[in-house]
Amino acid sequence: MSKVLITGGSGLVGSHLKQILPDATYISSKDYDLTSEAQVKDLCSQNWTHIIHLAARVGGILENISFPAEFIEQNLLMNTLLLKYSRLNNVENFTAILSTCIYPQEYFEYPMDESVIHSGSPEITNFAYAIAKRSLAVQIDAYRKQYNLKYNYLIPCNLYGEFDRIDDKKSHYVTALINKIIKAEASGERKINLLGTGSPLRQFMYAGDLAFVIKYCIDNNISESFNVANNENLTIKEIAEIAVKTCGVDVKIDFDNTSPDGQYRKDVSNKKMLDILPEFEFTPLNVGIRKVFNLYKDRNNI
Ligand code: NAP
Repeated sequence: MSKVLITGGSGLVGSHLKQILPDATYISSKDYDLTSEAQVKDLCSQNWTHIIHLAARVGGILENISFPAEFIEQNLLMNTLLLKYSRLNNVENFTAILSTCIYPQEYFEYPMDESVIHSGSPEITNFAYAIAKRSLAVQIDAYRKQYNLKYNYLIPCNLYGEFDRIDDKKSHYVTALINKIIKAEASGERKINLLGTGSPLRQFMYAGDLAFVIKYCIDNNISESFNVANNENLTIKEIAEIAVKTCGVDVKIDFDNTSPDGQYRKDVSNKKMLDILPEFEFTPLNVGIRKVFNLYKDRNNI
C-alpha cells in the first residue's frame, strides 16, 4: 500500500494537491524544519513509499534580490537532506518540484526543452534560488545514475491559484493582480499599479493543473522528469488586460517602469509532458482567473 508524504503541504501547490489526494500526509515548516538534519532524518524514517517535495524558500523578485543567501542556503539544505535520507531509508519514489527559472537567462530557441537546462546561466535577479533548484536537478540525475533510483523532478512554469497568499508582497503575480483589481474596485480608485514595464513574456499555469500532473505521476508510476507548462505565453501587460476583462472591472493599468522586469522570457516546451499525458487539457488563463476572483470576492464579501 502507498504511503505518500507531501512536503510544503501548506503552500499553494500543496493545498491544491490536498483537494485531489486527501489521503497523503501534508507537512509544513511548523511540523518539520527541513533545514534541520535531525528532523529530516526522523521524517524520512517513517516508511514512505512516495515523497513529493514541494517545500522551498520561495518569494517574488524583490525578496529574491534582498535575501539571496537565505534562498540558496535553505533550499540547498532542504533538498540535499531530503534526498539523502530518502535514499538511506529506501524510499522508492521521490519527486521534486523545480521551476522554469532554472533555465538559461537567454537561449537562441524558444520554447526551451529539458535538454537545454545547463546551456547558460540563470537570470540574475533570482540567481541564488535558481542555482539551488538547478542543483536539485543535478542531484536527482546523479542519484538515478549512481544508485539506479526512480527519482524524478517536474519543472513547472509560474503558478497561481485559489490557495496563494493574497498579501501583495508574498503572493505570485496573477494572484496579486486579482487582489489589486478587487481592491481598486472596492475603493473606487479605478487604477492599479504594476511593477516593471509589462513587456516580459510569461507562462502562467493554474496550480490545480500541476496538482493533477503530480497525482497522475503517482497513480501511473511515472518517473520521468519533464516541464509542466501551458501554451499561453503572454506579456505581463496582456495578462493584466485578461485579468481586468475577466473580473469585469473598469480599472486602468499603470506600470512603474523604474522597477526591475526580471527575465524577459523563459517559455518552456510541454512536448515531453504531453507525450506522457496526451489527453491533458490545461485550464485557460481566463477560466483560472475567474475561479480565483470568485473565491476572493466571496471571502472578502465584495
Ligand atoms: P509556497 O506556497 O510558498 O509554500 C512553500 C511551502 O514550503 C510551505 O508549505 C512552507 O511551509 C514550506 N517550507 C518553507 N520552508 C520550509 C522549511 N524550512 N521546512 C519545512 N517546510 C518549509 O510554495 P508553492 O507556490 O506551493 O510552490 C511549491 C513548489 O513549486 C516550490 O518548490 C516552488 O519552488 C515550486 N514552484 C512554484 C511556482 C509558483 O509560481 N508558485 C512556480 C514554479 C515552481 P510554511 O507554510 O510553514 O511556511
